[in-house]
Amino acid sequence: MKKIVTAGEIVVEIMATEIGQTFLEPGRWAGPYPSGAPAIFISQAARLGQPCGMISSVGADDFGKLNLDRLRADGVDVSAIAVHADAVTGTAFVRYAADGSRAFIFNIPQSACGRIAIDAAAEALLAGADHFHVMGSSLFSDRVVEVVRAGIAAVKARGGTVSFDPNVRKEILGASGMRAALDAILEQTDLFLPSGPEIFLFAQAEDEAGAVAELLSRGISAVVVKKGAAGAAFHSRRESVEMPGFVVEEVDPTGAGDCFGAAFVTHWLRGLAPAEALRLANAAGALAVTRKGPMEGASSTAQIAAFLASAEIRKEAHA
Ligand code: ATP
Ligand code: MG
Repeated sequence: MKKIVTAGEIVVEIMATEIGQTFLEPGRWAGPYPSGAPAIFISQAARLGQPCGMISSVGADDFGKLNLDRLRADGVDVSAIAVHADAVTGTAFVRYAADGSRAFIFNIPQSACGRIAIDAAAEALLAGADHFHVMGSSLFSDRVVEVVRAGIAAVKARGGTVSFDPNVRKEILGASGMRAALDAILEQTDLFLPSGPEIFLFAQAEDEAGAVAELLSRGISAVVVKKGAAGAAFHSRRESVEMPGFVVEEVDPTGAGDCFGAAFVTHWLRGLAPAEALRLANAAGALAVTRKGPMEGASSTAQIAAFLASAEIRKEAHA
């Protein structure tokens, strides 16, 4: 089986327990939960039984241990996650507004995450990698961009493939050099996984079909557009497939895109037809939103199969 490697932030997430809670006065908080978009992605790939590993850094503290223990238990190769005695593990505090929006306080670039590097362990991991996954949220410093570019180069040199989930905030696009870094990554991307409007960040066209056509003409093999509760769509030069989402009760949306992406990439690497890979990825995304905590909703092959046996497809998906 093909080995997937990703690189980027590992953090603990501390979540507000009540809607409308602020960061300005004491409140009830839940966590620490293991988190970080690339960590959630790789946890989901591992739970599906795919060989996989991650390049990252944590502190020599319990927040780092909690993440390492989880990833190891899921089956992730953690040999290239460095533990720094003189840095602390990254954190993300999140609160929820009444309109469903979220606000964060991140400690990432200044945390152990900021020390990420291609050391001997990372080189050894990449020497056995067949696929590299890039999370746009991970491109928070020039240093991570370098790590990601080195990971892509190593996997491409072995004839491997690259997937890219832009997962990018508009603010990041304004940072100097970021646009060029994203464009350089896109040039190397085989499978592009934007969510909804993110597709327009990388194309001139104003409709989805036009944006997809532009992206495919840049040499990307396939574009998978995530559409939240409505499901997802797959586009290649050969075909386009729309797949409605499944009906679930959304408890916590964080991590859906990461679990969806990992399930799609895993099944795409295993050679499944796009429609089947989309169906399994929609199931992984749907299951992710039913669990509180960013990484808690990653599911096993058996859990996905059990869900699909009785799952209901959203009827108004094409509306
Ligand atoms: P994230 O917040 O993790 O970055 P995203 O914006 O990248 O998420 P979404 O489109 O929100 O990605 O979700 C990814 C996939 O998860 C969807 O394509 C869908 O398959 C599934 N999904 C998300 N939300 C729901 C929901 N409420 N009901 C059913 N399925 C969902
Ligand atoms: Mg996303």
